Amino acid sequence: MAKTANSEAEPTGGPSVDEISERMLQAIWEHRLPPATKLAEEKLAEAFGVSRTKIRLALARLSHDGILTVEPNRGTFVASPTVQQARQVFDARRVLEPALLRDLCGQVKRDQLTRLRKNIAMEGEARERNDRRAMIRLSGQFHLLIAELGQNPYLSKCMRELCSLTCLVIALYDAPGTPACPHHEHHDIVDALESGDAERACMLMIEHLTHVENTLRLEMPADEDIDFREVFA
Ligand SMILES: [Zn+2]
Repeated sequence: MAKTANSEAEPTGGPSVDEISERMLQAIWEHRLPPATKLAEEKLAEAFGVSRTKIRLALARLSHDGILTVEPNRGTFVASPTVQQARQVFDARRVLEPALLRDLCGQVKRDQLTRLRKNIAMEGEARERNDRRAMIRLSGQFHLLIAELGQNPYLSKCMRELCSLTCLVIALYDAPGTPACPHHEHHDIVDALESGDAERACMLMIEHLTHVENTLRLEMPADEDIDFREVFA
């Protein structure tokens, strides 16, 4: 295995730090790396066939984005958002995503609309073959695509982070059997975008995010408040 280069240059061999963080993100999005998974550098280095330095760089990047948490003396873990943090993620999205749509409205190009509609079609296909992993990934991708089309790199960076956290929130708090994003709502948002109706697009997006939030079980009573007699009556 290659030793660490002494400069900024990445150590040679195997996938790049970019590729590693991208693949880890993908795994988080698809719930193959569930919340609170411990990420041991050595095992990851082995799995990717790269040096530990590269793994460390990829982990540092993802922890900087809030997707991983570092616990002193314990290691690095996939983040595990609390109920409060989960609600904050949706609050942040309800502020950010209408702003993105407002920017995009009126200047969206035909090929951009085609890309959005293509993503929706792929979501539909994933839904038809009941491929839950692909469904979650593609629904998140729809929202990211809107951010990317806006061409503000700072906003799309925020969205990347928020979408990844949303995937973790869904993994933690999803009620079994509910889809990630109600399908027709993405359609309606793109229709509003295409017709240049920014107000409607924003309203639909806020409603959509609230819908997704409401399908989650985000009210967790404290353990001691549970009346077992009631539970088992
Ligand atoms: Zn959605």
